[in-house]
Amino acid sequence: MAIDSQQKVTTSHLKRDAYLYIRQSTVRQVFENQESTKRQYALRQKAVALGWEMERVVVIDNDLGQSGAQTADRQGFQRLVGDVGMGKAGIVMGLEVSRLARNSTDWHRLLEICALTDTLILDEDGIYDPAHFNDRLLLGLKGTMSEAELHVLQARLRGGFLNKARRGELCLPLPVGLVYNTHGIPVLDPDRQVQDSLRLFFATFQRTGSACATVKYFREQGLKFPYRGSKGFNTDYLGWIDLAHSKAVQTLHNPRYAGAYVFGRTRTIKRVSGGASHERVSQEKWQVLIQEAHPGYISWQEYERNQQRLLENAQLHASERRSPPREGSALLQGLVICGRCGGRMTVRYLSRKESVVPAYICQKEGIERAERICQSILGLSIDTAIGRLLLDTLTPMALEVALSVQQELQARQEEVDRLHRQQVERARFDAELAKRRYMRVDPDNRLVADSLEAEWNEKLRLVNQAQEEYERKSQANRMELSEQQKAEITALANDFPRLWNSPQTSQRERKRMVRLLIEDVTLCGGEEITAHVRFKGGTVTSLHLPRPKTSAELRTTPPEVVAEIDRLLNEHTDLEIVHILNKQGMLTGMAHKFDVIAVQRIRRAYGLKTRFERLREKGLLTVQELAEKIHVSSHTIKNWKNNGLIRGYAYNDKLECLYEPSGDFPEKWKWKYSAQKQQTASCAESYA
Ligand SMILES: [Zn+2]
Repeated sequence: MAIDSQQKVTTSHLKRDAYLYIRQSTVRQVFENQESTKRQYALRQKAVALGWEMERVVVIDNDLGQSGAQTADRQGFQRLVGDVGMGKAGIVMGLEVSRLARNSTDWHRLLEICALTDTLILDEDGIYDPAHFNDRLLLGLKGTMSEAELHVLQARLRGGFLNKARRGELCLPLPVGLVYNTHGIPVLDPDRQVQDSLRLFFATFQRTGSACATVKYFREQGLKFPYRGSKGFNTDYLGWIDLAHSKAVQTLHNPRYAGAYVFGRTRTIKRVSGGASHERVSQEKWQVLIQEAHPGYISWQEYERNQQRLLENAQLHASERRSPPREGSALLQGLVICGRCGGRMTVRYLSRKESVVPAYICQKEGIERAERICQSILGLSIDTAIGRLLLDTLTPMALEVALSVQQELQARQEEVDRLHRQQVERARFDAELAKRRYMRVDPDNRLVADSLEAEWNEKLRLVNQAQEEYERKSQANRMELSEQQKAEITALANDFPRLWNSPQTSQRERKRMVRLLIEDVTLCGGEEITAHVRFKGGTVTSLHLPRPKTSAELRTTPPEVVAEIDRLLNEHTDLEIVHILNKQGMLTGMAHKFDVIAVQRIRRAYGLKTRFERLREKGLLTVQELAEKIHVSSHTIKNWKNNGLIRGYAYNDKLECLYEPSGDFPEKWKWKYSAQKQQTASCAESYA
């Protein structure tokens, strides 16, 4: 090689710098494979042997710990290519030069540039001139081999991983609450407090059905959630923090708590900008799932139920959630589902004269797409029916529900109590430890002794704090349960009907009771309203109710009244009709007595002919028409009528009359003599 090398290296090369490129792909290799790094640095000596001065050897080692698979993040390699391109390099050295770039494209580009700028390449095997075809071919082959090697290596590694994972033997990091025992098998964390915290966590989710509520409960109770150092050197470190929502959701989604071994829950996606992100993979695409692989905190069934629950929560969140009881009279607020489209129905309060009535309304689509609302159903009759249904079916059920609630409260209280006690014990243990450490130190070593004493004091303070917290909480909880809650529950169980009907019970309390017993109600409107009531526990009861009247219908005059008015108009004026209807005890649609305005309004609304029109249709004449016809003055005709000589038909309440066109008319002056006789007669005849 020596001769060969000497021939290839010329003064032109020696005028330029020698570049030594050093790389280890992972940080771990940097630490562990120091032998290789040493060999890489030793190449410097070779350059010197070939004639370069020591200070002209440029070492590029800022890519240590970077993978060779991509150039993007390797600034050292980019600098190397740049310098070679500008003709600064006489020779490029590397342990196995093909590993300069694990990517064929990058490698070939480097070769091209080296050939153009007459730069040599050197590795442990020899020295190459890329401008020579043979050398370039060899280098190209080396590069291709190297890329293939990397691929095979990766595939083999991955295959090994996968095989191990398929057998459930690949050690993956465990979430807090699970640890590997000495045989490398996952077991529950031996720390009692950690275990209890996780148990309480899952039980609380089970009860509340929401991650938010679970977090809230932990906060309210002043409980902490454990974590273990997951990365770096301090993996045994156990800490306690406030439970965060993200942590709660993460914990609920983690199948390891159900004792399942899982591999491939996430996958890595390369980003265009370089770097990568992780994406969660749906369960059916997990590469390995072994149920009951190790002990867990919940069963697999419970895990799946939790996933379902979380999904439903998310969906409900997207539409409208089953909302907590608010003020307002609608009993089923937040519980009603539309029987037509399946959406949640909201409550709208409609104001009726003197009262407000609730209506259940499905309007989400209506609002979003500006379309007609799906359906709207008046709530009053439904609420009443639900109340009746509860009273009818509830007595034995109430007892059961109340008792189970009571039991649950009791159990929950004990769990919380135990956790608080453990917090105190842990604090005591820490204090004891600090004390021992303090005792052990040489009293002459003032500095250490002082800081240890301070630590001991601090721990003692924490013990006191935990103790106080524990006492305060447990006292508060005990009192609440023993006095108030028990009384309430017993009352509910024993005397539900009294409680339900009591005027002291607010509508809000009734709503709470409904929520305790009913899961949801599906409403379907139409000529008849169907309400499917789903009780907690799954029983479904269907109610059929007549459709309540709309407000317009409520205002409508009953048809028989309209017919009566129509009939009376043939013979009577409006005022007369008012007297007659009120004497018969008939009422308007709004349940009021009749007055002239009401009659006129109905007459107009139903298109009934006026009395005037009716009389005209019969051929009766007005006073002017008659006067003209028989050649007398209108005054005369009125006098005739007033004296009862002819008959007039009153067509309004001013008693203006119409007259028959023919008949016995008095001679022009005759009326004056007969006037005294028939003084009393008038158009009152028409009252008959
Ligand atoms: Zn709907």
